[in-house]
Amino acid sequence: MAGHVYGGIEAGGTKFVCVVGSGPAEILDRKRVDTTDPAATLAVCVEFFARHTIRSLGIASFGPLELRPSHPDYGHITTTPKPGWSGTDLVGPFAERLRIPVAIDTDVNGAALAEVRWGAAKGLRNAVYVTVGTGVGGGAVVDGTPVTGMVHPEMGHVSISRRSGDDFGGVCPFHGDCFEGMASGPAIEARWGQPAELVHETERMVEIEAATIAAGLRQIVYVLAPERIVLGGGVSKLPGLHDRVNDELVHQMSDYAILAGHRSVFVVPPGLGDDAGVAGALALAMAAA
Ligand code: ZN
Repeated sequence: MAGHVYGGIEAGGTKFVCVVGSGPAEILDRKRVDTTDPAATLAVCVEFFARHTIRSLGIASFGPLELRPSHPDYGHITTTPKPGWSGTDLVGPFAERLRIPVAIDTDVNGAALAEVRWGAAKGLRNAVYVTVGTGVGGGAVVDGTPVTGMVHPEMGHVSISRRSGDDFGGVCPFHGDCFEGMASGPAIEARWGQPAELVHETERMVEIEAATIAAGLRQIVYVLAPERIVLGGGVSKLPGLHDRVNDELVHQMSDYAILAGHRSVFVVPPGLGDDAGVAGALALAMAAA
């Protein structure tokens, strides 16, 4: 086949999605594998890729992951509450069988890279992808490269300042009222006593949620100075949320005046929709080739 073809895996807690292609618009083959035990799940994925000629493989995975290349456990899941998966080597089985470069990063770093390459942050050098759903996570691309270090960023656990008078305790098992503890889907459910889709006071809920998300994004903006933030995840689909978050961010960061002029393009929805995960994996593969 002419041109270069790559492999990508979106590795999640319920499914692994394997694709072969050269971008989100050029996926040639795809296989969904249920996440069962590590050996069985990875074996099916290895066989899928063994049937194709691919230049490199990218894995965009749930974590936490060991991502320091010099570490003996590079490419392993470290400690996860998912039964049986702690210590799993995600890279080894593919590298040994396929004999091609295998790259791995977090699902959110993959999504950030894909949004920069093809999506809502296309062409930018510095951008952040934040997902607000069951949890809150973030990936960052700085000068074109996903940021990792000791483990990887955990943007969902930054501390945020409370709105005055708010005494909701938050739901993070580690910190209570961190970004994730205050803004995630389970936080909405705990605050309102029911899931977001059943809350009648939609306007008030979106107002509180936008202020809370903006408080988290503010920390990220001050540290990383992204040119754009792509905000995805189930909670981001609340009506009018992106506009409200932009307004709140400008309001909360009045000392960071440059934001006001970029308001409409600063916090934006993902450009890649449901294929952001596999697109991220392909972007990682292309970077590794
Ligand atoms: Zn936390």
